[in-house]
Amino acid sequence: MSHRVTLIPGDGAGPELMDAARRAVEATGVDIDWDVQEAGQGVVDREGTALPLRVLESIRSNRVALKGPLTTAIRGDQRSANVALRVELDLYACLRPCRLYPGVRSRYENVDIVVVRENTENSYTGIEFEHDEPTTAEIISFIERSTGQHIREDAGLSIKSVSEGASERIVRFAFEYARANGRRRVTAGHKANIMKFSDGLFLETARRVASEYADVSFDDRIIDNLTMQLVQRPEDYDVLVLPNLYGDILSDLCAGLVGGLGVAPGANLGDGCAVFEATHGSALKYRGTNRANPMALMLCGAMMLRHLGEVDPGDRLEAAVAAVIAEGRTVTYDLKAARDDPDAAGTSQVADAVVERLRS
Ligand code: NAD
Repeated sequence: MSHRVTLIPGDGAGPELMDAARRAVEATGVDIDWDVQEAGQGVVDREGTALPLRVLESIRSNRVALKGPLTTAIRGDQRSANVALRVELDLYACLRPCRLYPGVRSRYENVDIVVVRENTENSYTGIEFEHDEPTTAEIISFIERSTGQHIREDAGLSIKSVSEGASERIVRFAFEYARANGRRRVTAGHKANIMKFSDGLFLETARRVASEYADVSFDDRIIDNLTMQLVQRPEDYDVLVLPNLYGDILSDLCAGLVGGLGVAPGANLGDGCAVFEATHGSALKYRGTNRANPMALMLCGAMMLRHLGEVDPGDRLEAAVAAVIAEGRTVTYDLKAARDDPDAAGTSQVADAVVERLRS
């Protein structure tokens, strides 16, 4: 049976990484009918937006997408197309497995952490008020009147919202994932001691949901302490469930524990659609250089195949990537001992090696 899947090449190094991932997925023998949809900086001039409606419609119709990274400039008022896509499709759960494959250079052993990040709210939705604007002044004055707290007049504001409903569904997702995947413990990260009405609500909700899952243990950590403990003893952690911004930061931290962004895959999941994308961004400096590591996006492909019910091909693809890493010869610069190793393989050579493994 053929699976129709939306494919978004993305910005920066995205297109060449996607080309490599696509070749690896196809080498499993699974029949995929790719519905290629351009999005990102390359379509802004032509279509007036980085995320045209046709892209959302394609994903809604196919229900599954493999997505390259999309650039969001720090300057200017352009909003993130990545965030918009997650919110528009209500892809509320971001799942990021961080597994240390044998052969990867790391300071650690036995790291196998799954980051579950809430994807739709928190200070991440881009609800903001620019400094020195009349609306901002009004909000500052309302806050002063209602709380007695002073905010400087020249402040900009970013709204952080945490709801009981969104907290409940992400924590439930984490427990269901733990149960379905033989995981034994879920740890919630928060700053409930300071942000009582937002992170406090997240923690209170997490404790209530956890009480329904007697077979999976639950604990929580204040986020700064959790960050330190992950660096000191990552092997102690199993599934982490985190509000959006902490989840974003700890995803990269956990990627760093297992070899870096080049080997960190992910998925954005909702009740309707699933969008598979690596943790990394568009790695702009590697655009068109054949230098960036395609393994993260290949591992996204493995997650996608399993999601499509193609469990054995998904497992074979992950095993092929793991074998190429373990062998250590055909890997990109980021997996070499020295970053300037002249023997580092290029993106397309890694694709050749993974494809060859899958065909042998
Ligand atoms: P980045 O992930 O692109 O890069 C961080 C570092 O990791 C850089 O040194 C980069 O060269 C390296 N790197 C990233 N991917 C790699 C790979 N596959 N192989 C080897 N090295 C790799 O993050 P950034 O520089 O903070 O962001 C660049 C752009 O990407 C920004 O516009 C940002 O908004 C966007 N971004 C998009 C997504 C997404 O599409 N989901 C995620 C994160 C960042």
